[in-house]
Amino acid sequence: MYARRMGDLPPYLFARIDEMKARKISQGVDVIDLGVGDPDLPTPPHIVDALCTAARNPENHHYPSYAGLFAYREAVAEWYGRRFGVDLNPASEVLALMGSKDGIAHIPEAFINPGDYVLAPSPGYPVYQTSTLFAEGKVHEMPLLAENDFLPRLDLIPKDVRKKARLMFINYPNNPTSAITLPGFFEEVVDFARENDILVVHDNAYSEIAFDGYRAPSFLSTDGAMEVGIEMHSLSKTYNMTGWRIGMACGNAEILAGLGRVKTNVDSGVFNAVQHAAITALLGPQQPVEDACRIYQERRDILVKGLSGLGYEVTSPKATFYVWMAVDDCMGFTARMLDEAGIVVTPGIGFGKGGDGYVRFALTRSSERIQEAIERMRGISP
Ligand SMILES: *Cc1c(COP(=O)(O)O)cnc(C)c1O
Repeated sequence: MYARRMGDLPPYLFARIDEMKARKISQGVDVIDLGVGDPDLPTPPHIVDALCTAARNPENHHYPSYAGLFAYREAVAEWYGRRFGVDLNPASEVLALMGSKDGIAHIPEAFINPGDYVLAPSPGYPVYQTSTLFAEGKVHEMPLLAENDFLPRLDLIPKDVRKKARLMFINYPNNPTSAITLPGFFEEVVDFARENDILVVHDNAYSEIAFDGYRAPSFLSTDGAMEVGIEMHSLSKTYNMTGWRIGMACGNAEILAGLGRVKTNVDSGVFNAVQHAAITALLGPQQPVEDACRIYQERRDILVKGLSGLGYEVTSPKATFYVWMAVDDCMGFTARMLDEAGIVVTPGIGFGKGGDGYVRFALTRSSERIQEAIERMRGISP
């Protein structure tokens, strides 16, 4: 019944984990879900208020403009300038998205011909691979290994792949490994992209979720980046707005125009009231972001200390709300965690072959629940 490309999609592991979790809950188990990459904290109230006000204004009830309200794109440009020192022209270098997933899902359609290669990190956000498959491109996985600080080795990408590669996805701070970029890496990416005529898409969804004073950079602040690439960003993780569906693509105007042309044909933009609330989020007080980071950092410390105390080897992340931990058998560990302790974690293999041998804990539950998870884990064989 389904098209051939549906058969090419990898099995959706996360749906199976949801089923297993639902079964446990129906058996009366008090499940601690450390699987979800969705903030448990609410959207700050002043942003919700801005939505309510804007929603009452009939002017906002029409079809939005495709590229986004000019005022929203201006707010994004101002935020990028203030936060990253990146100078963006709101008219041509900012595009509104229905979350960064929207941009990631549609970018290959604008640039990939059947058989072209897309370079995607493994482990990585699964949409890099599936969007490539929908555009009938081929994925070349760039392994993210602990020994390379979870940065891809561009020098190991084979010549024949480079020749047919059109697009590269990168993502730092990284989901699922929680790795950050290191000095010189973005410069190396720009050089590689220039040499091989490849477009770069940097996914910066976690730039604001950082600890211990770390400030994540924008890829666009790298010399030459504006010529070769764009950055996907989003209000989802920064302002606890995953359900609102608003984000932005910024950077090279020609690349954005290509993405914009695809989107013009598949969606009709973001509800104007949501864009007005997003302006409030970007230009209003940033204290709630700092507060959220402090909460995640406290949870991180409890989890990392607890896991170390149980004898696991784990690194304390500088950014994202994930902890990435090596285990012998990621599917077996995930199953034991659920069966023996009622805890949901995500098996690394769900993020691609490169994630095998790891599990991901999300810091999206309270400190008390994370502490309880550690207590429950005492009974589990590692
Ligand atoms: C959450 C996430 C996204 C998507 O977020 P949106 O809600 O669509 O903005 C994109 N990339 C990564 C790596 C993510 O973890």
